[in-house]
Amino acid sequence: MREKRRKDADGLTPIATTKDWKMLYFQHGRPGLEESSPYKGLCKYCEIRDICSIVKPKTGIWRCEYYQAKVRRKTSLYENVIKLLDKAEEVVHFDENICDILAGTMNELVVHFPVRMDDGRVKMLTGYRVQHNNALGPFKGGLRFHPMVDIDEVRALATLMTWKTALVNIPFGGAKGGIQFDPADFSPEEIERITRRFTYALGNNIGPEYDIPAPDVNTNPQIMAWILDTYMSTMTPTERNRCIHVVTGKPLEAGGSQGRNKATGQGIVFLIEKWAQDQGFNLKSATYIVQGFGNVGSWAAQLMKQHGSKLVAVEDITGAIRKKEGIDPDDLTDYVKNHGGVRGYPKAESINHETFFSTRADIFIPAALENQITADTAEILNVRLVAEGANGPTEPEGDKVLQQRKIDVIPDILCNAGGVIVSYFEWLQNKRSEFWEIEEIDNKLKKIIISAYDRVRMAAEKYKVDMRTAAQIVAVSRLEMVYKERGIFP
Ligand code: NAD
Repeated sequence: MREKRRKDADGLTPIATTKDWKMLYFQHGRPGLEESSPYKGLCKYCEIRDICSIVKPKTGIWRCEYYQAKVRRKTSLYENVIKLLDKAEEVVHFDENICDILAGTMNELVVHFPVRMDDGRVKMLTGYRVQHNNALGPFKGGLRFHPMVDIDEVRALATLMTWKTALVNIPFGGAKGGIQFDPADFSPEEIERITRRFTYALGNNIGPEYDIPAPDVNTNPQIMAWILDTYMSTMTPTERNRCIHVVTGKPLEAGGSQGRNKATGQGIVFLIEKWAQDQGFNLKSATYIVQGFGNVGSWAAQLMKQHGSKLVAVEDITGAIRKKEGIDPDDLTDYVKNHGGVRGYPKAESINHETFFSTRADIFIPAALENQITADTAEILNVRLVAEGANGPTEPEGDKVLQQRKIDVIPDILCNAGGVIVSYFEWLQNKRSEFWEIEEIDNKLKKIIISAYDRVRMAAEKYKVDMRTAAQIVAVSRLEMVYKERGIFP
């Protein structure tokens, strides 16, 4: 029954479609083509010759661009997310009608909008906002700027946001959005115009008491400030100052909160501390590897340093590096700011994707994109704990391997919830015209995220399931309770 109601994610990631081709984005160095594809090959920079063109975008980093091929994407993230709902339902036998509601999204908005480029041309772009559920409060979720953004991904990420806010007990629903483009190919002025025009296209589909965006991949406080300014400019003068909480993750001066920038990384590290405490494991002598060195990955790494743990390998979109004696996260953060990625970092050796995944360490923090821990990469991982900073980093097949290999997992909807928790604090401060000190933010964040961890641990013991299924059970139980109390209108 529910199967029919699910939206068909065709599994493709189109950048542009012509009669014979789907133009797909390929992240360099990543398996993306089916074995049988005639377009398999290697390029001289990323080892994918013949199928990609090489460009030097405005950031000055050489990388692969797009290739044309008729291939299917390996996994649909949305299907993975719904599979987990099904798994939790099998264990707890939730109300079937409520599960049917949660298996679909409430609203899906696709906007196509024109933006003038620096050279005078006009480019059409496509943006998305999916609102999954608002039973617990206003829709809440990040905005992603990435060429792989599509309706399947945004649906999945919006759904994960509903689970996350329900799990950590904050009064928000779940949403997500994004624009399908690569900001590395555009000037800052063009990105500002794209952001503003997208905000205008969203119109009243976002709002401070209705749907509140925040930063995600390739978006940051500056972009949130442009969204706020554009949104405010469309309001009447009397309403203008009442809508500062239409976005979170703003710069401090524009109404942001202390601690929001580091919040997701901070939440991850609070949970790793708790896991280590439960295991009687000393973080001082621990080693860790990080995939993705943007907001989440770099903050998690810098905060792990405070425990004396050693960062031994890092991978991002530009390449991977390793150093047994340890990489200084602060120094690497500065390097990445100046060079756009970890590639070429002079104080560590350059390694390939497989070597990164097989590097011996105690903890792995995936903080890049989804579907990175596949059955293959899970097989070569050489760690005790995976602390999921990214959303959906583990494919179901990869998850099975992690369980078989008895590698602990702190699942994404718990592990990266620090961001939305501090976004909630920012939203509250804006509404009350208050400014909280960093100590207050950190204490409140720790309390909320650790008590969610405890609830997940208890559910795992009660139902004899893994932490991921337990987190799903806790989240859906809360939503089920609310639907049962409120009933279904009319
Ligand atoms: P970001 O844009 O700041 O950083 C993304 C990082 O991932 C970059 O270092 C990039 O080089 C790397 N990356 C991209 N593709 C890669 C690939 N194929 N292989 C290796 N590295 C790759 O984004 P972010 O805000 O740090 O978000 C990272 C993840 O964390 C995403 O899954 C996001 O949804 C999730 N997340 C972010 C927040 C937040 O507050 N920003 C909150 C919760 C979850």
